[in-house]
Amino acid sequence: MPIATVNPANGETIKRFDALGPEETERRLAAADAAFRQYRTTGFAERARLLERAAGLLDDDREDIARTMTTEMGKPLAAARAEAAKCAKAMRWYAAHAEELLADELPPETDVRDAGAVRARVHYRPLGVILAVMPWNFPLWQVMRFAAPALMAGNVGLLKHASNVPQTALYLEDLFRRADYPQGCFQTLLVGSGAVEAVLRDGRVAAATLTGSEPAGRAVAAVAGDEVKKTVLELGGSDPYIVMPSADIARAIRTAVTARVQNNGQSCIAAKRFIVHADVYDTFAERFTALMAGLTVGDPLDETTDVGPLATERGRADLEELVDDAVRQGATVLCGGRRPEEQPRGWFYEPTVLADITPGMRIHREEAFGPVATLYRADSIDDAVGIANDTPFGLSSNVWTRDEDEQHRFVRDMEAGGVFFNGMTASHPALPFGGVKRSGYGRELSGHGIREFCNATTVWYG
Ligand code: NAP
Repeated sequence: MPIATVNPANGETIKRFDALGPEETERRLAAADAAFRQYRTTGFAERARLLERAAGLLDDDREDIARTMTTEMGKPLAAARAEAAKCAKAMRWYAAHAEELLADELPPETDVRDAGAVRARVHYRPLGVILAVMPWNFPLWQVMRFAAPALMAGNVGLLKHASNVPQTALYLEDLFRRADYPQGCFQTLLVGSGAVEAVLRDGRVAAATLTGSEPAGRAVAAVAGDEVKKTVLELGGSDPYIVMPSADIARAIRTAVTARVQNNGQSCIAAKRFIVHADVYDTFAERFTALMAGLTVGDPLDETTDVGPLATERGRADLEELVDDAVRQGATVLCGGRRPEEQPRGWFYEPTVLADITPGMRIHREEAFGPVATLYRADSIDDAVGIANDTPFGLSSNVWTRDEDEQHRFVRDMEAGGVFFNGMTASHPALPFGGVKRSGYGRELSGHGIREFCNATTVWYG
C-alpha cells in the first residue's frame, strides 16, 4: 500500500510520501532510546504540563486537523471535529489523573509482615520505547488513547500509522514537538507494514500496541511473542445490539442508526448485528430501515452529510463481497445493498439493512466494516444471548432492556469487553476499553490502560 493521501470522496491522490529508509528509521530508534533515558526521570507535574500544552495546541488546530482527517479517510467533518475535541479531553484527563492512577500500592500490614518485610510497596515504572501500530478509522483518537497514558507513565512512543493517513500521522509528531516534548519522545515512522517486524525486533523497543484487523494483530503479536515483548491488541468487532420488549423502542431505533453508521460504519465498536426480540421485531425492522434509507450519503466536507465514503476502494470491495455473499445465500435486502448512483466517483456505499441472516453466511461471522446492518429475530433471552455470542469477536455489546433481572443475566453472559445498557458503546478516558476472543487482549484507557505499559515493581524492605 503506497503511503499517500487519497481522497475517498473522489479517488484523487492528493499527496504521496516516500517511506523512511533504514538509516532514517535507525536515527529515530536511537532518538527514541535516548529520549526515554532522560524522559523516564521526569515527574508527573512536568509530564502533565507538556500534555496539557499539547491539548491546548490541538484545540487551536481543531478545524485544520479535522479537514485533514476528513480528506484522508472520509469521515463527516463534524465527526472529525468531535474526534479532535475528544482527544484533547483525554489528554487533560490523563494529565490530571495519571499520578493517582500510578500511585504506589501498599499491601496490608499483615501481608507485609507475612512476606518477611518491614515495608513493601508496588511501584509503577515505565517500560521504555513503545511501538504503536495504528489504523486509519479514528486517525487521531486511536493514537491519542495510546499516547496520552503512555507519555504520562514516562514511556516514549514510535507511531507506525496506517499508510492512508500520513498527514495526520505527521501532524501528531509535530503536535508533540510544538508542545516542547524532549526530542524523540514521540515520533512518526512513515513506513509500510513490511517494516514493522524489524522495528519490533529491535532491542531498543520494549513493547507494542496494535489497533487494527485480526491478521495485522496476529502478525505483530507473533513477532512480539518471539521476542518476548508485551503487546496490547485492539482488533475487530461485530458487536451485537439486542433489543428486548421492555426497551424504549423509539430511542432504541434512533440510537441503532447512529450506532451502525457512525464514522461511515467503520468503527470497531459500531453495533453491527441487531438482535431483536420477536415481540418488537417488526416495529424495529420497519422503522430502523426507514431511518437508514433516509440518511444523506455524500461529500463528508458538506455539513449536511450523514454518511461519507468508505476510506479505501479495497474496503468497499470487501463490504460488497460480504453483502453479495449473504444475498446469494438468501438474505433479504430491506434497503441499500448497492453503490449510490448519485455518487459515481469515490467509494460510497448505501446504508444497508439485511434480514434473514443464516449462520452459513460470511457476514454472520465476519466484520462488516461499513454501513451495513444485519437483523436477527430472537424468540427469547436465551436465543438473544446465543446469537450475540455466536461470533469469533468479543469487543463490546449493547443491550436495550429496562428489566433488572435481564440486565444481570446479560452482564453475566455476554462474551465481550463491555455491556452497554440502553445506549450505544462509546469510549471514555475513565472507562477501560478492549475485548476478548478475536477482538484482542489488554485494555486501553482508565487505570487499566496506563498500567499496561508499566513495570509493576515489587519493592521489599527487610
Ligand atoms: P489494518 O489493515 O489491520 O491496519 C492497521 C494497522 O496495521 C496499519 O497501520 C497497517 O499498516 C498495519 N498492518 C497491517 N498489516 C500488518 C502486518 N502484517 N504487520 C504489521 N503491521 C500491519 O486495519 P485497518 O483496515 O486500518 O483498520 C480496520 C480494522 O481495525 C477493523 O478490523 C477494526 O475493527 C479494527 N479496529 C479496532 C479497534 C479496537 O479498538 N478494537 C479500533 C479501531 C479499529 P498499513 O496501513 O501500512 O497496511
